[in-house]
Amino acid sequence: MPLRLHNTLTRAVEPVAPADADGVFRMYCCGPTVWGPAHIGNFRTFVIQDVLRRALEIELGGVKIRHARNITDVDDKTIRESIAAGKSLADFTAQWTEKFRADCAALNLLPPQVEPGAVVHLPDQIALIARLVDNGHAYRADDGSVYFKVSSFGKYGALSHLKLEELETQNDNSAGHLNQADEYSREHVADFALWKARKPEDGPNFWPSPWGEGRPGWHIECSAMIEKVFDGRTIDLHGGGVDLMFPHHENEIAQSCCAHAGDAGYAFARHWFHSAHLLVDGRKMSKSLGNMYTLADIAAKNFSATDLRFALISGHYRSPFNFTLHGLGAAKSAVQKLDKHLQALALRAAGEPGKAKELVARLKKSAPEALRWGRFAAAWEVLQDDLNVPGALGEIFKVEPKAATVEQATEDLEGLVKIAVGALGLDLPLPEEPLAVPAEIADLAQQRWEAKQARNFAKADELRQELSARGWKALDRKDGYDLARE
Ligand code: AMP
Ligand code: ZN
Repeated sequence: MPLRLHNTLTRAVEPVAPADADGVFRMYCCGPTVWGPAHIGNFRTFVIQDVLRRALEIELGGVKIRHARNITDVDDKTIRESIAAGKSLADFTAQWTEKFRADCAALNLLPPQVEPGAVVHLPDQIALIARLVDNGHAYRADDGSVYFKVSSFGKYGALSHLKLEELETQNDNSAGHLNQADEYSREHVADFALWKARKPEDGPNFWPSPWGEGRPGWHIECSAMIEKVFDGRTIDLHGGGVDLMFPHHENEIAQSCCAHAGDAGYAFARHWFHSAHLLVDGRKMSKSLGNMYTLADIAAKNFSATDLRFALISGHYRSPFNFTLHGLGAAKSAVQKLDKHLQALALRAAGEPGKAKELVARLKKSAPEALRWGRFAAAWEVLQDDLNVPGALGEIFKVEPKAATVEQATEDLEGLVKIAVGALGLDLPLPEEPLAVPAEIADLAQQRWEAKQARNFAKADELRQELSARGWKALDRKDGYDLARE
């Protein structure tokens, strides 16, 4: 069965596959606005998109995916905050872009092949706006702003299933911030800004255009970058958090389709992938409620990025996810359990601890098609059904860590690496290197074990103290013991 996903456009779960003859799957995800550290809500969306990318790589092969995610480095917030910080917009956004990338790496997100920035692509945005003005889908207002004429696009609202007359004024059209442009200069309240005329509060952040100095609206960025990065082709999948469906994605569709008005076969994106929000203790995450967490806040509470990643993917992507520290604790335990599972299989498959580490490292680097599923095939099947991560995790934990034979353990280990590390991106640590135990310590430990078996507890205790004096301890099992450093 192929990978199937819910498509917001059709409201149906459909197979996803590349449509173009070259077999390349073209996906675009709206990226972060770089005005501060991204919060774990943003990362829920990005981590889910990463699981999708990984699942597609397993399904289609890594070389066939072209994944782009933009960096919004000019908008109301970046401009306002850079001025408040006394930095140039470029320096300010570069600093937060770097932080975003470091957080993504910690969360084991595969970097997109293309990461276009909005400022660098300003000429592409201006060119796209010019096309829309030329073909009558956009107009210049008296103040020099340019608006998209929503009534000129008959299919407006198809994605969010809204009708034009139901639309409220699109004030909220700049990444959640009010569009300060003059309300009265628009022909219709639903029309949104493609180009925003320069205002005093923009400071030095304005650029020349055929309509006067100013800066781009938020929505046009994504349309222009998609046009550029994917050579004007229809893309296979477009993703973002559910809040972006309206108006952002609706506006992207309108802009791009109208720019391609003469091209009857053109569609903007075939599949729309929206993920639901993260809530904290049942409430919206916000700075003012004091419940906004960044990766640094999570690390300060002694949780690893893998613990967080596990928590963020553990709920279905189409349901809101309620984040709690208690839940994060449960995620940590689950990661430990998974890790033990991996170690047990690796030990059985490799025969000895020294080789287990090597084996797991090799499997982690292997191409997915080189790995078998073993007893984890069911987990993959569940994941393929609308990226059901909680279901897949349930299947993973159903598999007993004990394997009957070395061959079974090897196949299972491949399957576990493929599903947990490969598809879910959980960076499980490699099996521990065995401790190098000096011969005399091994000898003392053996004598102690034998004394204990002979019920000579006084001697066993003496030997325990001797071991302890040399910095070692024996951890007894039912049928033997392990040595550890004290
Ligand atoms: P932004 O940096 O605000 O442009 O948002 C980046 C991404 O994070 C977008 O795809 C948003 O939809 C998503 N996002 C914002 N808040 C949340 C949240 N609380 N939970 C999940 N995703 C979110
Ligand atoms: Zn976008």
